Amino acid sequence: MDLTARVAMVTGGSSGIGRAVCLRLAQAGARVVIGYRGNRDGADTTAQAIRDKGWPEPATVRVDVTDAEDTQRVFGHVVRANGKLDILVNNAGVGQPSAVVPMNPVGEWAASVETNLLGTLHCIKASSLHMLVARSGSIVNISSIAGRVGIPGLSSYCASKAGIEGMTRALSREFAPYDVRVNAVAPGYTADTGMVDRIDDKRLREFLDRIAMKRLADAHEVANAVAFLASDEASYITGHTLVVDGGLTA
Ligand code: NDP
Repeated sequence: MDLTARVAMVTGGSSGIGRAVCLRLAQAGARVVIGYRGNRDGADTTAQAIRDKGWPEPATVRVDVTDAEDTQRVFGHVVRANGKLDILVNNAGVGQPSAVVPMNPVGEWAASVETNLLGTLHCIKASSLHMLVARSGSIVNISSIAGRVGIPGLSSYCASKAGIEGMTRALSREFAPYDVRVNAVAPGYTADTGMVDRIDDKRLREFLDRIAMKRLADAHEVANAVAFLASDEASYITGHTLVVDGGLTA
């Protein structure tokens, strides 16, 4: 996969899957803009790892994807600074517990939807006009197996990820006349990431039992799928969700 001279924005690049995606895109030759919200050190660590390899010089940028105006402003800056934006990876995400019984206030329940689904929408709105005018671009949204199977206590997270897949299909048709592709990657449980690190050992063992390949994903295995969909190798693929789950949902 050759992404030489492409400019890629990755939200949530300060840790976990987002960091692996930044590294993989940079390895393929892209100039990566690493988005972070609170973990500036994490974003700097991602940037340094790219520099250490001698890949194209990255940039870091603070953006809170729940804030539509902030997102618009930051993406405008990214496009002006780089002259274009070829690739957008909507990776920023949270998995807030959202048990409905006992009923949480709806505002609390909706936290995952606000970041994962509306945050993805804000980033697409902030970048798509540029891509549509350029008649070129590739958007990859990070979904989850939680968009396909129900996880008790995480209904907001599951709804947000199922929503991302629906939005991916609809926008792929909306943007196709402008040669902008929209796809998603749905990872399974991925090692050394914020979300999996927060799962207790007993629950993680139960999840492992259900994975056909009997192991967690490595973040670079998810990143490979993202890089493929972002690249011209996937030039006739749009509206698709690529599941990377070791057979969990097979
Ligand atoms: P981490 O918990 O390691 O990191 C989350 C990232 O999202 C951080 O970089 C964080 O930034 C960023 N972020 C959170 N909220 C916001 C916000 N409002 N605005 C901007 N950035 C924000 O994540 P993972 O690597 O575990 O997960 C990454 C993605 O992959 C998520 O979308 C998740 O749903 C999905 N996924 C993860 C799986 C896993 O097993 N880990 C499985 C399936 C899907 P900062 O820290 O700088 O605030």
